[in-house]
Amino acid sequence: MARYTGPVCKLCRREGEKLFLKGSRCMTPKCSFERRSYPPGEHGRDNQFRRGRASDYLLQLREKQKARRIYGVYERQFSEYFKKAGRREGLTGVNLLVYLESRLDNVIYRLGIADSRAQARQLVAHGHIMLNGRKTSSPSAIVGVGDTVSIRPESMGRTYFKDLRQDFDDRQIPRWLSISPDTLTANVLQLPARDDIDVSLNEQLIVEYYSRR
Ligand code: SF4
Repeated sequence: MARYTGPVCKLCRREGEKLFLKGSRCMTPKCSFERRSYPPGEHGRDNQFRRGRASDYLLQLREKQKARRIYGVYERQFSEYFKKAGRREGLTGVNLLVYLESRLDNVIYRLGIADSRAQARQLVAHGHIMLNGRKTSSPSAIVGVGDTVSIRPESMGRTYFKDLRQDFDDRQIPRWLSISPDTLTANVLQLPARDDIDVSLNEQLIVEYYSRR
């Protein structure tokens, strides 16, 4: 399945909650979910009142879709993460979230270098980011403990990164990452624990979704 390229605010309305896909705009009254919290489509407003109790399968499917949308991951890649998560020690659902959090685009977002995961993907794809001193254009690269993430020296002179360095102080960095605001060089101190992952997802439902197949 291809990546969704339509209006992203529709995805929040489809899932019935804010997925924070548009960065700082999501925190403003311009957020489309604040104004229209009913599902998209011609009959979306009517259908929100007609919905009965959702089946277990529907709840599981929606949770999986929500996770895919939050992290911007293709279906096939998502199911690969699930398989790998199952082979790791520990809880499969938590392992899955750790994989998603360890994606380079997510790390860029968590570090505050990008306002949203979509913007982070773009920064990586456009070659502005280095992983362990080497330029990478793969947003899906998985970072590990001890890895270094930095901005390519040629990109540091860009207005975007200059402005970023100037007002970096206010940003909250998760405890599993560290960053030097002067150089925008970051280190992965450890893998995130479940408590560090502040996304509203019930990973157990995703595990149940894949267990049916
Ligand atoms: Fe979702 Fe953000 Fe759009 Fe609001 S502004 S509907 S939270 S993507």
